[in-house]
Amino acid sequence: MVPMMPIRYYSTNRSVPEVTFDAALLEGQASDRGLYLPDRFPSITPEELVSWTNLSYSEIAFNVLSPFTAGVFSEKHLKQLCEDAYDFDVPIEHVNGNHHIMRLDRGPTASFKDFAARMMARWMGSLLDGQPGELVILTATSGDTGSAVAHAYEGVDRIHVVVLFPIEEVSTRQRKQMTTIGSNVTTIGINGKFDDCQAMVKCAFSDPDLTAIRLTSANSINIGRLLPQSVYYCYAYVKLARAAEREPIVFSIPSGNFGNMMGAVIARKMGLPIRRIIIATNANDEVPEFLQTGDYRKVAPSRLCISNAMNVGHPSNLARLVDVYGGWLDEAGTLQRAPDLDRMREDIYAVSISDDQTRKTIKDVHDRFGILLEPHGAVGWAGMEQYFRDHQGAREHLTVCIETAHPAKFPDEVRSIVGLDPAPPPSIANLDERHEAYDQMSCDYAALRDWLLSRFV
Ligand SMILES: *Cc1c(COP(=O)(O)O)cnc(C)c1O
Repeated sequence: MVPMMPIRYYSTNRSVPEVTFDAALLEGQASDRGLYLPDRFPSITPEELVSWTNLSYSEIAFNVLSPFTAGVFSEKHLKQLCEDAYDFDVPIEHVNGNHHIMRLDRGPTASFKDFAARMMARWMGSLLDGQPGELVILTATSGDTGSAVAHAYEGVDRIHVVVLFPIEEVSTRQRKQMTTIGSNVTTIGINGKFDDCQAMVKCAFSDPDLTAIRLTSANSINIGRLLPQSVYYCYAYVKLARAAEREPIVFSIPSGNFGNMMGAVIARKMGLPIRRIIIATNANDEVPEFLQTGDYRKVAPSRLCISNAMNVGHPSNLARLVDVYGGWLDEAGTLQRAPDLDRMREDIYAVSISDDQTRKTIKDVHDRFGILLEPHGAVGWAGMEQYFRDHQGAREHLTVCIETAHPAKFPDEVRSIVGLDPAPPPSIANLDERHEAYDQMSCDYAALRDWLLSRFV
């Protein structure tokens, strides 16, 4: 057999050469400000899916990820990293009929961001092992990325993590999860919105004045964040579907920056039988609008909703989605070439859910099924319900809603809606006793540049 060429990664702006996996991972955003995508999607055959039925999460992660990292990590090494990263539960709960919830909240910071952050930290740590110099990971967070990344990289040699968060827009628990770590993690509260934090980070990546600092991203700008997010879709399919009958599956994904959705798009491209991807946003409805009209308009400023990790008015990963469907969305958010919208609509159903609907859904799902959702998962469940109302017969189909965070991360909201206090998992208990430390900065890129120069040069 002729060995396959390792997968290479191209930029969605296509004005830089393709690179290897390690280069894409360490660079984060391509220097033409595009986002990296693999030059092909390795295939998972139906027979392979059947044969994975009894595998553990980490074994499935290894099977899905190994073609993407071939040529960079040996199989033995990747297997170890997967076992080490995925040592927690991935519960799939049956709710009613053919409908399920997959809880991605059992990692150390209680949101789905742990899945990707833990893998990416291990990949980067391994690559830096034996290289000189220090890597600075600059990351914007709408609430959960910051803690997942900070936790995943805590104590990793020669990596320093800098997290920018919108000071008024994260919950107290979310803030304390990242500001109490210390060591190689610095957190900066920005007097602005998540989109401002994301824009400041993107400016830093393309700033020629900062070339002396080796900067990279741990946001879903980084391809290393997306690939691990395709694994749990395969896992859910393998555990639930009658794989031998090739029963297709529907996923409902609460979305903000659309990295989680891209994980499902990648899994589908690899051959996972996904019937439909439901993307459910809060009132930041730029993507549902785009799918409907074909016109892309950012929501600026982004709208404040109780599902705060999804308060994104200009999502990074839309550029990747447009690319996969044959279009080109540049870094300024201008649609340079339209994607195949008809095909996109066949594969993806997008819906915006209000805060009122979100609260009602939390209450309703708790009353009817005794199942507790937090605001993000409730947006996903409400999106699924809307999809059923719009599509006759769809209610019978195998469907999985993604619960992206633990209800105890949003205690005030949950208490006011269902009148009970969700017990915090060990990872977020005792937060109040830990020492908090963070810097503050105005929403001004020059201030960030000066700070980075003074700190790392
Ligand atoms: C980040 C986050 C989301 C949104 O995920 P994207 O990949 O940005 O679309 C949803 N829910 C929670 C709890 C999150 O932390």
